[in-house]
Amino acid sequence: MSFNSSLNIYDDPTFRMACEQFGFLADYLGIDRNDRDRLMLPKRSVAVTLPVHMDDGSTQTFQGYRVQHHLTLGPTKGGTRFSPDLSMGETAALAMWMSWKCALANLPYGGAKGGIMCDPRTLSRRELEALSRRYMQEMIPFVGPHTDIMGPDMGTNEQVMAWFMDTYSVYQGYAVNEIVTGKPVSVGGTEGRREATGRGVVYLVERAMDMLKMEPEKTTAVVQGFGNVGAVAALSLGLKTGVKILGISDAFAAFYNPKGLDVRAADAWVAKHGSLKEWDGGDRVEPKELLTMKCDVLIPAAVDRVINESNAAKLQCRILAEGANGPTTPEADRILDQRWSEVFVIPDILCNAGGVIVSYFEWVQGLQAFMWSETEVTDKLFRIMEHSFTQVIQRAKRHKISHRTAAMAIGVERVLKAKQSRGLFP
Ligand code: GLU
Repeated sequence: MSFNSSLNIYDDPTFRMACEQFGFLADYLGIDRNDRDRLMLPKRSVAVTLPVHMDDGSTQTFQGYRVQHHLTLGPTKGGTRFSPDLSMGETAALAMWMSWKCALANLPYGGAKGGIMCDPRTLSRRELEALSRRYMQEMIPFVGPHTDIMGPDMGTNEQVMAWFMDTYSVYQGYAVNEIVTGKPVSVGGTEGRREATGRGVVYLVERAMDMLKMEPEKTTAVVQGFGNVGAVAALSLGLKTGVKILGISDAFAAFYNPKGLDVRAADAWVAKHGSLKEWDGGDRVEPKELLTMKCDVLIPAAVDRVINESNAAKLQCRILAEGANGPTTPEADRILDQRWSEVFVIPDILCNAGGVIVSYFEWVQGLQAFMWSETEVTDKLFRIMEHSFTQVIQRAKRHKISHRTAAMAIGVERVLKAKQSRGLFP
C-alpha cells in the first residue's frame, strides 16, 4: 500500500488499526493495488477551532473535526463524539468503520464521524450548548441533508442534536430537521432511535444464543460501558430476555456479582447521579478485569481497542457481541480466529448497526415529512439486522473465514462495486 502512516495527518493507533484491518481484507478479496488507497483513505476532512465564552469569564478554544470517508453511494452519515482525547486519526478510523457498517446494512450512505476534543461532563449546560452550536456553525459549509448527516455518538445526546438542528435551521431560515438524526421526537426525531443500538445488539445476541442452543435463563452476561448502548443492552437482556447480568461498568467503576446485579437500580442511579462512580449495588472490581471474568455473553460497549493481545486468550465468554466501535484489535482477532469454536464473535459493524439503521429511518421520515410508529421502526430494524446477520454467517461458513472478515468483505465489496460502476472522473 502506498499509504505512509508517518507522513499522514491521520496518524493514530486507531487509524492504523482500521487500515490494518482494511489491508488484510483487501488481500483476502484480492483488491487491485490501484483501488486500495482510494477505498481506504477519507474523501475529505475538516478541523475547526472553536472559541467559547466560559462561565468564569475566560475564553477557551476547543478542537473539532469532521471526516467524510466516501461519497460514492450518497451522503455521508455518522455520529458526533465529544471526548477528551479525540484526534483526527481516531475520527477517521471511526468514519471508515461507518462506511463498511452502512454498506453492510445496505444503507445509501458513505461513512462519516466527527466530534470535539472535550470532556462534556466538566462543562455547564450553557457551555455545552455554546460549544455544540459553535461546532455546527463552523460545519455549515460542509454538511447538509444530501451531503453529510450528523448523528449522536459517545458524549452527545438528543439535546446536542436538537442544538445542531436549531443552529443549522436558523442559518437556513426554516426548520431542516433532516440535517441531523438522534433528535428528540419533539423536533422531528423518530420513535425508537435512542434504544436502537442496544436493541439491535440484543436482537443479535438472542439470534446467536438460539443458534448455539443457549437457554436465556441459564445464560449470564457482562456489559462494559453503561451509556446509550451498554445500559439499554443490559436492561433489555436482563429484564426482557431473562439473562443474568453479572457485571457492568462505566468510565469510573466496575461491578461484578456472580449472583447477578440489579441493572434497573444501576440505571436509576445513573439517571440521578450521572455515573456509577458512587454506586454500591455490587462488588467493585478492576475495570480491566471485568472483560475476562466468567460469563456467557460479553458486550464491550465503551471505547475501542479494549480486547487486545493482552486479554484475548483469557476471554471466558461464549458470545462476544461488539456494541462499541473497534473494541477488538487485529492482534486479538488473530487469537480469536484460533478460538473460533469457543468464542462466537458478532463484529462491531454488524452488532452495533442498529443506531445508524434507525438514523436512516429518521432521515427518510424527515425528508418525506411522514412519521412512523415505534412498532414500524423496530420491525424494520430487526428485518435489516436479520438479513445482515444471515448474510454474514452464511459467507463465513461458505468461505471458512471469521465473522469479522465476512462482514467487512460484504461492506467493502459493495463500496468497491459502486466506485467501479461510477468510474474515476475525469
Ligand atoms: N454513532 C453511531 C455509530 O457509531 C451512529 C450515528 C448515526 O446515527 O449517524 O454507529
